[in-house]
Amino acid sequence: MSNPRPHVGVLALQGDVREHARVLTELGADVALVRRPSELEQVDGLVIPGGESSVIDKLSRAFGMRGPVRDAVAAGLPVYGTCAGMILLADRITDGIEGQQTFGGLDVTVRRNAFGSQADSFEVDLDVPVLGDEPVHAVFIRAPLVESAGDGVERLAQLDDGRIVAVRQGALLATAFHPEVTGEHRFHRLFLDTVRSR
Ligand code: GLN
Repeated sequence: MSNPRPHVGVLALQGDVREHARVLTELGADVALVRRPSELEQVDGLVIPGGESSVIDKLSRAFGMRGPVRDAVAAGLPVYGTCAGMILLADRITDGIEGQQTFGGLDVTVRRNAFGSQADSFEVDLDVPVLGDEPVHAVFIRAPLVESAGDGVERLAQLDDGRIVAVRQGALLATAFHPEVTGEHRFHRLFLDTVRSR
């Protein structure tokens, strides 16, 4: 373990930035809010929060962040995306708004707002073997779904019907739900383990 106190960023353009910053701080990380390329250069890992993916996409382009985030992902920066953050990490999306782009990096197709208006939000206990025996209480809020995933993508959690809601590929981690709002720290710990191992 090279760095005991990892220096990580939360992409702070829109969304539930503070919730992520709180969890990461509680886990002992040194947390920075990242809005500019110079701030991105300083961190050893990045969280992309939940929020509205089309807004984060637009703001990332307005702030000159799209290219730098894509380059950092390609260079192996550990990134954890929740909900909108999962959408932004997907190589392919369905049901994006007109012209919506992603940073990409994960070889998955993600459907935005996959649960429709009837089931806008719901909660469910999920088995996530990589995190141990205790199930994860997962909160879904206008959540996306992984519709298909390439061979290199690890499926970390699925709903009872098999639909994929958490994935990992190399240094990239993504969940369709929001551990940062329920006191669930194990996904962030997994992310920080990846940051420390690089
Ligand atoms: N539906 C949102 C989007 O398209 C994601 C919702 C969320 O992050 N809770 O980005």
